[in-house]
Order: sequence, then C-alpha cells, then structure tokens
Amino acid sequence: MDFKNVLVLAPHTDDGELGAGGFIAKLIEQGAKVTYVAFSTAEESVPDHLPKDILKTEVKAATAKLGIAAGNLIIFNYQVRKLNYVRQEILEELIKIRKYKKYDLVLMPSLKDIHQDHTTIAQEGMRAFKNTTILGYELIWNNLSFDTTCFVKLNHSHVESKFLALQCYESQSGREYMGMDFIFSLAKTRGVQIGAEYAESFEVVRWVIN
Ligand SMILES: [Zn+2]
Repeated sequence: MDFKNVLVLAPHTDDGELGAGGFIAKLIEQGAKVTYVAFSTAEESVPDHLPKDILKTEVKAATAKLGIAAGNLIIFNYQVRKLNYVRQEILEELIKIRKYKKYDLVLMPSLKDIHQDHTTIAQEGMRAFKNTTILGYELIWNNLSFDTTCFVKLNHSHVESKFLALQCYESQSGREYMGMDFIFSLAKTRGVQIGAEYAESFEVVRWVIN
C-alpha cells in the first residue's frame, strides 16, 4: 500500500471520518497527503440554539485532529438533502479538483448507500474519478447492503484517532454512531473478519494497478 495523494469525498461533514477515519489516520501516519471535501454543512438542519455554521467549525477541528492539513480541506455549502438538484455543478467541481492534483486513491460513500446526498456523491465521484482506484466506505445505517471486499487493518491508535476526531462534532453528540462503543465495536467486528485486532471495511468500486 503506497498511496501518496488521497481524496476523501464527504457528502456532509463527518461522513469521511465516520466511514474512513481509521484509514485516514493510518494513511497520514504513513506519509500520505489527504484532501477532504465536504459538500454540505447542513445549515438547514442545525438547531436554532447553535450557530448555523457550527458544522463548518467542527469539520475543521475534526479533520485537523486526524492530521489533515487545513489547506487540504475543501468545504462547499450546498443545501442538505438537495445535492441531486446540483449534480452537474458538483461533477464540475470534482473535475476541477481532479485537474488540480493527481490522486491515487479516492474514498467515497458506497454505491449502495441509500441516503440521497450520499448517492449523489458516490455517483458523481465515480464519474469524475473512474480512472482512479476508488473505495466505498461503510456507513451501516445507510447501507442497504455492503460487500466487504476490502479491509484495512488498524491498530488501537487509529481507531482512537477516529473516535477523537468524531468527538469534535459536539452538535452531533447524541447520535448512536458517534459513541465510543459503536466506533470500537464495528472496528473490532471488521477486524475479527480478517484475524486482525481492528479494521475498517471498504467496497471496491475501482481498483487500478499501476
Ligand atoms: Zn451524510
């Protein structure tokens, strides 16, 4: 595994950390440069007592915690649940991102993710990056099914980094999938499948061998 430039596509802030936080921590530890793109900060869903841009603040903190450089974080402000309305705009942005840097791995939602915004990013991501290795990350609450065709072995510190990054999302703290129990249990489950302590699983969308 020798990935140098990795692109993470997150429909909403937090999706990249939830689906691939452990792998991102491992990639950065191994010297890869990771670029993280969030498409919506879900301003319309933020409760009234919180600042509207709270998720923007939180994604900056969370990605920094994983070791992603501030200059490698791209935040768009498309309307939540309406990414499909601007599908072509998103594709054009992805093509600009593709031209700017040569990526050797793209991480995005699974093609079987049924959240409408995740579906849009998975489909446009596949269109824009069809010449690149693409792995779909796992978000079990949105996956109708999931083929565990790829595993990334993780150690405790990678899973811990993922958990600590997710802790930055205080506005989302009530959610079951943000909890330590869940994060470590899923990593343990995926690890058991391959005889490792911990792992994250990915769906192979495209595998390009140079
Ligand atoms: Zn999402």
